Amino acid sequence: MSDQQAAALAAFESAGAFLRGHFAYTSGRHGADYLEKFRILEDPRASGALARMIADRFRPSRPQMVAGPSTGGIILAFEVARQLGVNAVYVERGEAGGRALRRGFQIPTGTRVLIVDDVVTTGGSLAETSTCVGHAGGEVVGIGVLADRTSGRTPTDVPFFACLTVDFPSYAPEECPLCAERIPVAEPRGTSKRVAV
Ligand SMILES: [Zn+2]
Repeated sequence: MSDQQAAALAAFESAGAFLRGHFAYTSGRHGADYLEKFRILEDPRASGALARMIADRFRPSRPQMVAGPSTGGIILAFEVARQLGVNAVYVERGEAGGRALRRGFQIPTGTRVLIVDDVVTTGGSLAETSTCVGHAGGEVVGIGVLADRTSGRTPTDVPFFACLTVDFPSYAPEECPLCAERIPVAEPRGTSKRVAV
């Protein structure tokens, strides 16, 4: 593990965002590890430290604006933009699906835009956000995230950076060693019965 990955892991740990136990993911599979992104996002010190890693990584790309998808990406986009000294825009769900710029947000044609998000699980939100920024006239110069749960398999055609990259083992419920030990399935604070993958 690199120094940066270790520092990111320490930030997650200090915020109480890296949970261990027995969890049911939205995929239906079970596992012993869980990242609760809102424990990071409610902690300005931890989220600020991670945002600094993203800002430092992409400063040489000279972003002129930072864009983040709702909900967590809004908080992160604000902080990364603050550290880079540029403005942020927030990308929300569109009325016809996908993602949209609402509330009068505009991206002048040719603006160099850095996209940020919290925890990547499938990359779908990032793809929709990139499409939205491109349609608005922005040039996506990179994507930075707090954590990549796809263990580096997120497909992007621009430079991609994750403060923390993880690959949690998961099991079908009938093969789950934690179920076999009759350990109750935990429900992290603020989640419904099934937690996000
Ligand atoms: Zn289980």
